[in-house]
Amino acid sequence: MKFISTRGQSPPVSFREAVAIGLAPDGGLYLPESLPDISPRLRAWVNLSYAELCTEFMSVFATDVPEDVLSHLVHRSYATFTHPEIAPMRRLDDRTAVLELWHGPTLAFKDFALQFLGNLYGWEGEQGGRSINVLGATSGDTGAAAIYGLLGKPRTAIFILYPDGRVSPLQERQMTCTGAANVFALALDGSFDDAQRLLKDAFGDAEFARQHHLSAVNSINLARVLAQCVYYLWAWLRLSDEERERVEFVVPTGNFGNVFAGWLLQRMGVPIAGFKVATNQNDILHRFFATGEYRVGSVQPSLAPSMDIQVASNFERLLYYLLDEDPKRVSAAMTELKTRGSFRLPNLDRDTFTSSSASDTEIAASISRIWERHNYVIDPHTACAFQDLSPARFSVVLSTAHPAKFPEAMRAATGTESTHPALEELKARPVVKHRLPAELGALRKFIAEHGV
Ligand SMILES: *Cc1c(COP(=O)(O)O)cnc(C)c1O
Repeated sequence: MKFISTRGQSPPVSFREAVAIGLAPDGGLYLPESLPDISPRLRAWVNLSYAELCTEFMSVFATDVPEDVLSHLVHRSYATFTHPEIAPMRRLDDRTAVLELWHGPTLAFKDFALQFLGNLYGWEGEQGGRSINVLGATSGDTGAAAIYGLLGKPRTAIFILYPDGRVSPLQERQMTCTGAANVFALALDGSFDDAQRLLKDAFGDAEFARQHHLSAVNSINLARVLAQCVYYLWAWLRLSDEERERVEFVVPTGNFGNVFAGWLLQRMGVPIAGFKVATNQNDILHRFFATGEYRVGSVQPSLAPSMDIQVASNFERLLYYLLDEDPKRVSAAMTELKTRGSFRLPNLDRDTFTSSSASDTEIAASISRIWERHNYVIDPHTACAFQDLSPARFSVVLSTAHPAKFPEAMRAATGTESTHPALEELKARPVVKHRLPAELGALRKFIAEHGV
């Protein structure tokens, strides 16, 4: 199978190439050249384990990875999860279930994609006999998930830039207490924007990037989208016929990566009735689905920090399909967004997508309500999804993080603190971080000295 760019100005590439390149050279995002119809295979997939299902699904796309290798990489990726079902579904009542996506090593859903991506990188390194230095910037969860994806992988090093003093203490511990020799947590004397600028400058120096085999981790990698399709498929296969008829996946989102994966699966023939795009007070996506206008605002910090985003980087993939798979129209819309700060789409399918937004007060109220009614603790991101659930639908709420990652918000809403043994264990380990000034020269020197 080949993969094309949403902007249409880069040649089609294979799966392995698309994963290695990340962002297409024309600035677009990769998508399958044409989407397969997987509906005839659903019946046979019901009894597979999570890793078996993931292998079957990925083999439709990763046609340039040998099947036995793919199976090995996938099984290894999900062997780090602590629940036997990987993504267990918990029913709260007869029209609500929660899909728990936080049984991976960093207790957030990003592990589903980044464990797999890390194993793919490791295998590419072995294949090409070449080393990879992965460089990323984070304001929290992505950095930790990327680090755990690459922990101890041969011929691989990972450098994660984060603003010193501005990520939560537990998030910092996840990045700095791994004890792995190939992990470098770089505490930047600056803001998250400084970290992103530095990252861009490092990759902008093409000679340096080439010489050190620099590779990016970001939310737009094709492998991340495809790996995220699998838990929707897994959950759908576990529903009764009656539930399937009215199932709506309710997805806390910022970058539109997670919910896009579910929608793509629907387009491949899995009959999912609908999706609800659940934002926090940074509601650009909610406003888009309510009005058809996509307009960038400014970011307001919230209780659900991993969704404090205004430009949803994966949104361009949906746009490609909404604009009839016409790359010229996608490029025009993205140019309009850049120059005018907004664009409008007249003909939205309002049956498939609904949306909501939750203020911090509403997030806290949902956490308390679910705790009192169901004796079940949800984190602030998951709480955004409990805003205005449709009574006519069977709602499967995607739970994106374990509540113990956000102790202050949980204490305020429930009066008790949720804990997790993996986080408690981190507290006993030494913090190893490298302080760095926000200067390209300092970053280059550090990578040259510590890279593989
Ligand atoms: C990253 C993240 C999200 C948002 O996911 P997107 O794919 O960016 O929409 C939601 N919740 C948690 C806990 C996250 O880490």
